[in-house]
Amino acid sequence: MPFTGQCHCGGVRYRIDGDAVGVITCHCRDCQQMHGNANAMLAAPKDSVALEASATLTWYESSATAERGFCSRCGGRLFKRPRQGDRILVSAGTIDPPTGMKTIRNVWVESKGDWYEIPA
Ligand SMILES: [Zn+2]
Ligand SMILES: [Zn+2]
Repeated sequence: MPFTGQCHCGGVRYRIDGDAVGVITCHCRDCQQMHGNANAMLAAPKDSVALEASATLTWYESSATAERGFCSRCGGRLFKRPRQGDRILVSAGTIDPPTGMKTIRNVWVESKGDWYEIPA
């Protein structure tokens, strides 16, 4: 902490100052269709994420319960923001390395792609 990160083109840049819990890898169909595969996300308090650049940030309502923030120029997907609760999920691959974080949980394992196995 703090973490900084950005999309591929830099149109969206952010900083995270709060206490991140750890990386959650989601194997749901929404993530597969939007990210092309499972997506690793860092869960952080919503108010801990500050946007330093957001000119190309666009929000997409991905389900009745959440929206996703992506860059309209490079297509990079950075955020999943559930409507309920005080957490936001930040795509782990967009965080500037090293993160020092560990994967703490795999979710939606039952809908994962059939071309890989989840490490024990
Ligand atoms: Zn971009
Ligand atoms: Zn998902």
